[in-house]
Amino acid sequence: MAPAKIVIIGGGFAGVECARALERRLRPEEAFVQLVSPDAGLLYLPLLPQVASGALNPRSVSVPLRRVLRRTEVVPGMAVGVEPGTRRVVVRRTSGYETALEYDQLVLAPGSITRIMDVPGLQEHGFGMKTLAEAMYLRDHVLRQLDVAALRGGLDEDRERLNFVTIGAGYAGTETAAVLNKVCRAAAGRFFPEVEAGMVRWHLVTHGDRIMPELGEKLGAEAKRILAERGIELITGASAAEVTANGVKLTNGRFIPSRTVLWTAGVAPSPLAAHLGAETEKGRIIARTDLSVPGLPGVWAMGDAAAVPDMADGQDRVCAPTAQHAMRQGRHLAKNLIATLHGAQPEPYRHPDLGMVVDLGGRDALARPLGIGLRGVPAQFVARGYHLMALRTIVARARVAFDWTVHGLGGDDFLRIGYGDHKVHTIGGFEQSGCYLPADEVPRVVKALAEPE
Ligand SMILES: Cc1cc2nc3c(=O)[nH]c(=O)nc-3n(C[C@H](O)[C@H](O)[C@H](O)COP(=O)(O)OP(=O)(O)OC[C@H]3O[C@@H](n4cnc5c(N)ncnc54)[C@H](O)[C@@H]3O)c2cc1C
Repeated sequence: MAPAKIVIIGGGFAGVECARALERRLRPEEAFVQLVSPDAGLLYLPLLPQVASGALNPRSVSVPLRRVLRRTEVVPGMAVGVEPGTRRVVVRRTSGYETALEYDQLVLAPGSITRIMDVPGLQEHGFGMKTLAEAMYLRDHVLRQLDVAALRGGLDEDRERLNFVTIGAGYAGTETAAVLNKVCRAAAGRFFPEVEAGMVRWHLVTHGDRIMPELGEKLGAEAKRILAERGIELITGASAAEVTANGVKLTNGRFIPSRTVLWTAGVAPSPLAAHLGAETEKGRIIARTDLSVPGLPGVWAMGDAAAVPDMADGQDRVCAPTAQHAMRQGRHLAKNLIATLHGAQPEPYRHPDLGMVVDLGGRDALARPLGIGLRGVPAQFVARGYHLMALRTIVARARVAFDWTVHGLGGDDFLRIGYGDHKVHTIGGFEQSGCYLPADEVPRVVKALAEPE
């Protein structure tokens, strides 16, 4: 029998874990696996704030797909349309031309994108924190504000440059604000004598009254205390109403002059979900407990892009969009694919939440492994140990451990590498959300691609 054709869309946590497990458990003559991804590496997103802070080098947090996958064919590009009828995926390759991949089993794991609300000016002036390029750009941009403020010394302009605003107090926003505030305060005075630490103001804006609600009440309160001690102003019950080149107007009417508005107020599922004809819940593809997609035979969905019932939670909810679920769903789906190929029944996905870890920079960390609240050095130990274990190769673990050691001993050099100095990289410039084919276009493109030239 010809090997089954399995196409995986997305080279993130879920997609790569699935491909790795298939490689380990299936013989080459049983299945031919292709993984479509616009990125060359598996990006370890939870460590992105540490790239922005300079504690980690960008290369350390992205594991090359071609190193981590041995037998899977990596197809560089974006899946821009799916035609379930003929079982074809249209891929716009990185080189620009389109091609159609045939599948017997299709795995959808395209993750999420930054959730942009209808806030005027956000696309043009707000920064995101979802890609390696954005993390590197943000660090450079923040250091550039200190540099320029130190040179110019104009009062109003300085206030704009030295005010930083983060909208969204989940783990991405809180960690990034905490570590970059630390960088600014350490740099002010010492490296930029004209800028006093007190002139730097970070603001963390959240629509609720808690930060990182997943931490629970006690640790959440502890996080608030740490931020307040570091001079970060927490603004609750508000969001952005309008972002301009010179600041942000909040929904409570307050205007904060700033040239740095970081938007981390949630993620939205990949727009691919809406182009499939599958049912969605808040944009996520509705999947059954075994991760198959109802109404689309041979199609499976997982990770941030999928609404998978959380069977361990017992409260009729879907799994949270976390790396923890994405990785485990990836491995589970590989088992279910193998069961399907072998004529057995797929099994439901069930995974109890193992807790979370938060690194606020320095010795300030918080962790809730298996419901046990930890803070300070023990939490830092658990957080770093968890990240090292979760990284996918020994080389990546060694790189991250080495970076932490050098940064711990030598501190930050506050080096601005000039990345994007002459071009502004706001959210609108990073997202590829406009690349998808309208659903009714896909059959025409598939047909055209099938015809000989
Ligand atoms: C800054 C930050 C910090 C975070 N910290 C934590 C944390 O501490 N703990 C935690 O559990 N979670 C954390 N998360 C969330 C976690 O990273 C996500 O839940 C996880 O990455 C989801 O995995 P995924 O495989 O579904 O998607 P992703 O990891 O996002 O991967 C999706 C992949 O699909 C690719 N793709 C997208 N569209 C297409 C397409 N059309 N065709 C082909 N490929 C496509 C993308 O380029 C990407 O490579 C954090 C997220 C961010 C942004």
